[in-house]
Amino acid sequence: MPSPATLLHDQPIARRIDALLDLSRQHAEHFCSPGAWLARQRYTAEHPTSIVVMKCMDGRIHIPHATRTPLGIITPFRNLGGIFDLGWPYLGELLTDTVVDTAQAGRATLMLITYHFSRGNQARGCAGFNCDTQAAKAHAYAIAEQAGKLFGHDHQQVYPLVCGFETDSDALIIHGKEGATLDVSDWVGRAAEGLSSQLNAICPDMPHDMLRDLLPLLEGNLAHVSELQGVERELDIEHRE
Ligand SMILES: [Zn+2]
Repeated sequence: MPSPATLLHDQPIARRIDALLDLSRQHAEHFCSPGAWLARQRYTAEHPTSIVVMKCMDGRIHIPHATRTPLGIITPFRNLGGIFDLGWPYLGELLTDTVVDTAQAGRATLMLITYHFSRGNQARGCAGFNCDTQAAKAHAYAIAEQAGKLFGHDHQQVYPLVCGFETDSDALIIHGKEGATLDVSDWVGRAAEGLSSQLNAICPDMPHDMLRDLLPLLEGNLAHVSELQGVERELDIEHRE
């Protein structure tokens, strides 16, 4: 059986546009529903850390989807290739306003600075960096350094965290201190309870509240990646039959 996505892709363009507009209406209705609004209020009360994501405008990078986080919790900043300079006047102002507003509400900010790549084929990497993963990663580290200058190198109010996104598996890769990493794809088939201690080990200076509020994203990502791998296995079996 072809997947619904394949079927849609084979439709004439007008049908595909209608389908996208329908999907957009469904998302808008759900987002505005009382249940979804209350769920966001409750999520924010339970996980008060403000989560900001700097990312590429590539449509494959959808962090709420990949981490199973309710829509409206994560604040995205998108640009081609995720290429930013926090010294840009308007971006700097927007980001500073976001950080100051949350600080005034008693909340800290976790800043996920992302780059993306494909393990299966380098050509599926980030067009903004000509598919050069090392260049994309180096740029993410440069933004993290800028964030330290703007908001403090102790990282207690704003924690800049470099984070890879592998688009074949949708797995997040957290870059901690001294080259240590937490690759969610390594955790498929393992108990999610262990994520907390590994995150603590690679980011020992991360405030406890932030760590607690980052964990649901990693757990959600692990569930998402595991499910995708299960679907791939099923498709493989179908193809063999
Ligand atoms: Zn990109």
